[in-house]
Amino acid sequence: MAKVLCVLYDDPADGYPTAYARDDIPRIDSYPGGQTAPTPAGIDFTPGHLLGSVSGELGLRRFLEAAGHTLVVTSDKDGDGSVFDRELADADVVISQPFWPAYLTADRIARAPKLKLAITAGIGSDHVDLDAAIAHDITVAEVTYCNSISVAEHVVMMILGLVRNYLPAHQVVRDGGWNIADCVARSYDLEGMHIGTVAAGRIGLAVLRRLHPFDVQLHYTDRHRLPAEVENELGLIWHESAADMVPHCDVVTVNAPLHPETEGLFDEKLIATMKRGTYLINTARARIADRDAVDQALRSGHLAGYAGDVWYPQPAPADHPWRSMPHHGMTPHISGSSLSAQARYAAGTREILENWLAGTPIRDEYLIVDGGALAGTGAHSYSTTTPS
Ligand code: NDP
Repeated sequence: MAKVLCVLYDDPADGYPTAYARDDIPRIDSYPGGQTAPTPAGIDFTPGHLLGSVSGELGLRRFLEAAGHTLVVTSDKDGDGSVFDRELADADVVISQPFWPAYLTADRIARAPKLKLAITAGIGSDHVDLDAAIAHDITVAEVTYCNSISVAEHVVMMILGLVRNYLPAHQVVRDGGWNIADCVARSYDLEGMHIGTVAAGRIGLAVLRRLHPFDVQLHYTDRHRLPAEVENELGLIWHESAADMVPHCDVVTVNAPLHPETEGLFDEKLIATMKRGTYLINTARARIADRDAVDQALRSGHLAGYAGDVWYPQPAPADHPWRSMPHHGMTPHISGSSLSAQARYAAGTREILENWLAGTPIRDEYLIVDGGALAGTGAHSYSTTTPS
C-alpha cells in the first residue's frame, strides 16, 4: 500500500467555501492540437469546486483510501521540522503544485528512500531537482496542457490591465473618487502596438492567437520557428533571439521555461535595450527576470509597467520589492489555478496515480523523468546535468 503525501496551499482565510460564484464550468475534452484532457477512470469531486487547497485534497481521498492507500495533505512545506519534511521520510508519492511548491531538493530526495513518484499538479517541475530524481529512479510527471490556456488568458488580462491603466482607475472608484485625469494620464490603446513573446509553445502561441484580433503587430522568438502557415495566419515577425526582438516591442510577454538559457535573461542590460515605456509581463518563472533590475526600471520610468504571477521564492516575503514597486500589476501565483484549471489538474493527477498504482504506462506527454532519464515532455522541454 502506498503513502501519498500531498502539499497544497491553505484554505481561504474565512474557511473552505460552501458556495460558489457559478454553478458549473464548461467541459473541455481536448486542447488545441488535439491532446485529450485528462481521462481518469473516475473522479470524486465536483468540477468547479476548490480542489487545490488543503481541504479540497485534489479530490483524491476517497479514491486512495478505498484502495487501502494513505493520503497525507499539508500546506506546511518549508523549514526544518515542517510536516512535509517529517512525512517525506516514508512517502512513496509526493504531489505538489507550482503555486505552492514543495521544493524537492537533492537533500530531501536523499532523505526519502521510499519515494518513487513526484507529481506536479499543474505544469512546471522546476521545483524538483531532476538530476536527483534521475539518480534515485524517481518518476516525475506533470499534467501537461492542463492550465496553459488559463495562463494565456491571464497574460492577455495583464497586458490590457497595464496598458489601459485598469488597476489604478479601479482604485479611484474604490476610494470614492472621480478624477478622470488621474485615471487616463497613463492609459493607452493596445491597437497598433508591437507585442512580442519570448517562446511560442503552448502558452505563448495561445497568447498570440488571443491578441491577434486586437489589430496589433505580433512578434516572437523561440528555439524553433512555428509553421509558415501559422506565421502567415497571425502575421508574425520571428526574431532569432530575445535580444533581437525586444527593442521593437511596446509589450513583451515571457512564456519560456526556466532553464540555464533563460535564467536572468531580463537583466539590466537587456531591459536597457527595450524602448522607454515598454510593458513587461512574466507569468513563466520569476528568475527569468532580474528582481532588482525590474524594480529599478519601473522606478526610473524606463519600463511603463510590469505584471505577472511568478515570484522567487514562493510565497514571496512581505518585503519583496515587487510588492511595492510603482506601476506593477502583480498577483500571487494564481494564473494556472483557476477553478477551471483545478478540475483538469485534479483529474490529471488522478489519472497519473491510477496508472502508477496499476502498473500501467503514464501518458508519454505527462512524463518528465522516468526510468532514470528525462522522458516524454521532459526530454523535449527540460535539461539536466545528467547525461541521458
Ligand atoms: P511549452 O513547453 O509548450 O513551451 C515552451 C516553449 O519555450 C517551447 O516552444 C520552447 O521551445 C521555448 N523555449 C525554451 N527555451 C527557450 C529560449 N531560451 N528562448 C526562446 N524560447 C525557448 O510550455 P508551456 O507554454 O506550457 O509553458 C511555458 C512555461 O510557463 C512553463 O515552463 C512554466 O514555467 C510556465 N507556466 C506558468 C504557469 C503559471 O501558473 N504561471 C502555469 C503553467 C506554466 P522548443 O520547444 O522549440 O525547445
